[in-house]
Amino acid sequence: MPIPGISRRTVLAATAAGTALAATGLAAAPAAHAAAPTLPNGTSADKVLVVGMDGLRYDRIDAAKAPTLKSLMANGTYGRSLLYANPMAATSSGPGWSTISTGVWPDKHGVRDNTFTGKNYAKYPGFLARLHQVRPELSLFAAVDWPELDTHGTVTPGADAKLVYDNDYVVNDKLITDITESVLRDQNPDVLFVYFGETDEIGHNHGAASQKYLDAIDVQDGYLGRLLAAIRARPTYASERWTVIVTTDHGHTDAGGHGGSAIEERRTFVLAQGPGIAAGARPVDTRLVDVAATVFRQLGIVPDPSWGLDGKPVQERSTDPFDTLYGSLGGRVDETGIPAGVLGFTHTPPAGWSVVNNAMGTGGVTEWRGWSFATDEFWSRTQRDQSRELNVRARGVFAVADSDEWADKTFSGAYDTTLVTPAYAVAGAARVTLGFTTLYRQEGAQKAEVLASFNGGTPTVVKTYTSDVISQPQSLTVAVPAGASNVSFRFRYTGANNWYWTIDGVTVTAS
Ligand SMILES: [Zn+2]
Repeated sequence: MPIPGISRRTVLAATAAGTALAATGLAAAPAAHAAAPTLPNGTSADKVLVVGMDGLRYDRIDAAKAPTLKSLMANGTYGRSLLYANPMAATSSGPGWSTISTGVWPDKHGVRDNTFTGKNYAKYPGFLARLHQVRPELSLFAAVDWPELDTHGTVTPGADAKLVYDNDYVVNDKLITDITESVLRDQNPDVLFVYFGETDEIGHNHGAASQKYLDAIDVQDGYLGRLLAAIRARPTYASERWTVIVTTDHGHTDAGGHGGSAIEERRTFVLAQGPGIAAGARPVDTRLVDVAATVFRQLGIVPDPSWGLDGKPVQERSTDPFDTLYGSLGGRVDETGIPAGVLGFTHTPPAGWSVVNNAMGTGGVTEWRGWSFATDEFWSRTQRDQSRELNVRARGVFAVADSDEWADKTFSGAYDTTLVTPAYAVAGAARVTLGFTTLYRQEGAQKAEVLASFNGGTPTVVKTYTSDVISQPQSLTVAVPAGASNVSFRFRYTGANNWYWTIDGVTVTAS
């Protein structure tokens, strides 16, 4: 978020139903005099509180006391993942909160840094704006003390009442807590988005490795605990179904700072507790775009496909066979930039799948000799800033053929490897559609082909990639020959010291 040293003021505005609550008078008044805005009476027994904690590096929660966050982890689902980096977007707050609020990645919402240049909230609105549109009877509340989230329209549009303060976080995180607590206690809101900023400020000034950073986590944990206590104290609590979601927009380096592509800057999490959300679950396929989708699910709202959401609810698992390999992943062999404790690759495919390497050269970096199955952290740690950080639509474990990394150690022969799917039944179908997400970077004579083989016959090429595809869903439809009963697909990659190809989320649908 903000640049340290930015001027500190107090209340910018507290508005209800679009009416300024004497903002100018409040600006000069002591913070304690700020009153809660009046919301319309809520209409839903399903209720959601989203709490955003800026720049909260999740591995530091473990070192903090953070009893409330740890209780949510024990009683809820906690999915950790990594962000994009440039050239898609910086690991900064504009893109991060836009991703959380809209439920789509920066290549859709358009925010790539804190200038917000290119924002496309008209097509991809924040979830409060979307809720206001599709269910206007909901009572919606927003509170932020990074005012850009209001001025640029990232979070607050659609809210029936909002608190917007300047970024004096020591004062205003507490003020937001005081007022939100009273709203939860005395009124009947349905969905709330509450933002705290001090973790990021302390991260910038003292580093994520500092004791002060742990202390800041504990302060915010205390604010979160007060909000949860206010929810539990509601007279109508027994007849309500509350979901609480905690998330962050980016990580921080040990020394403090973010925006770049270091793993510590890319760390994010989604922590959720509520009806239908498993206690103690640690899914490997959760990503930051899942916050908005989870809000919709908990309210019983099925997103329209035209919304173009990239997220899915945290309780919904991807059906990807690659994720079944997670528990059997190993550590580095020839790679040198990956810490030994990071487990994240295997050459053993899932059941029913195979890899054909009979034309594959010898030697090279072991991890990437032919198709591998890897995690975002393991693969993108091999070499920063070569767009491996942009595999945003992959989840958990994915397949990767990386001739660039393979060629970093003495080898002979060419890079030629083919990933083969199981056989899928197509009897009686007119066509079959292969879906997957891919990240492909093209260079030189490198080639990526998708082939189809019916009833074990000679594979025929159905798609050839000859230019970059930066984390996009793919859909290839092939006619089923008369009499065919099954199909298997092949992903063949050939190259030298060029780039790479990833495959994930494979689906096959006959129709
Ligand atoms: Zn920051």
